Amino acid sequence: MGEQKYAAIILSAGRGSRMKSDTPKQYMKLRGRPVISYSLDVFQKSQVEDIILVSAGEDVEYCQKEIIEKYGFDKVKAVVPGGKERYHSVFCGLKELVNRDLQPDYVMIHDGARPFVDQEILRRCARSAELDQACVAGMPVKDTIKIADYEQFAIETPERNLVWQVQTPQVFLFSLISDAYQQLIDREKQGMNSSVTDDAMVVETMLNKKVRLVEGSYKNIKITTPEDLELAELFLKND
Ligand code: C5P
Repeated sequence: MGEQKYAAIILSAGRGSRMKSDTPKQYMKLRGRPVISYSLDVFQKSQVEDIILVSAGEDVEYCQKEIIEKYGFDKVKAVVPGGKERYHSVFCGLKELVNRDLQPDYVMIHDGARPFVDQEILRRCARSAELDQACVAGMPVKDTIKIADYEQFAIETPERNLVWQVQTPQVFLFSLISDAYQQLIDREKQGMNSSVTDDAMVVETMLNKKVRLVEGSYKNIKITTPEDLELAELFLKND
C-alpha cells in the first residue's frame, strides 16, 4: 500500500437470521463494544484513506452517532443504506465512492461481521491486489470437504489442499470491480437470476478474470451463530 489510493467498503446491512436475535450480529457487543467497531478500527488505522459504511436504512443514524462519532472513525466519509442481498449492498458502496468522487485505485470490501481482520492481512491483500488486480483473503480448509447431491449423498471429495474457505477483505482494482458489478446489476435488471455470495464470484463470472487467494487467518471468523460470539470473546480474552 504505497503510492496507490485505497478505499474500503464495510458491509453492515445484513439482518442475520442464523443468530436468532433481534440485534443484527454486527451490532452485538463484544467486551462492551459493537462487533462492527473492531473492523472499523483496523481500517481506520491502516493506509486506507476513505471508508464507506453500508448499513440497513433504519440503522444509518445509529451507526453515525453510536459508532462513527462515538469512536472517532473520521475516515468514514458516508454511511449509506444497503440492499436486499449482500451484492446489492456492495453496489451501493461502490456507487457512493463514485458519487463522492473519491477515485480510489483499489477498493477493499469487508464484512463488518469479521472483527478479527488485522493489519497484516490488509497488507498481504494489498500486495496481491497490486500484482493481480483481484484477490480475496481465505484459508485452506482443515476438514475434508464433501460435495453433496440434493438427497444429501456425498458425490465428490475435492483434494483438500485445493479447497479454501473464503473470507474478507476481498480487494480489487476499482475500475475492475465497478465494471463487474455494473454488469451484474444490468443482468439482474434484465431478469437474470444472481446467486452471488462473494465479490470474487462477480469478477470471475462477469469478467472471466482469475482471482488470487491470499492467506487470511483462522481467527478471521465471521460472527454468524451464537457459538461464534463465544469464540470471539475467547479470542479477546487471550489477546
Ligand atoms: O449474510 P452474510 O453473513 O453473508 O453477510 C456478510 C456481510 O455482509 C455482513 O457483514 C452483513 O452485514 C453484510 N450484508 C449486507 N447486506 C446484505 C446482506 C449482508 O451488507 N443485504
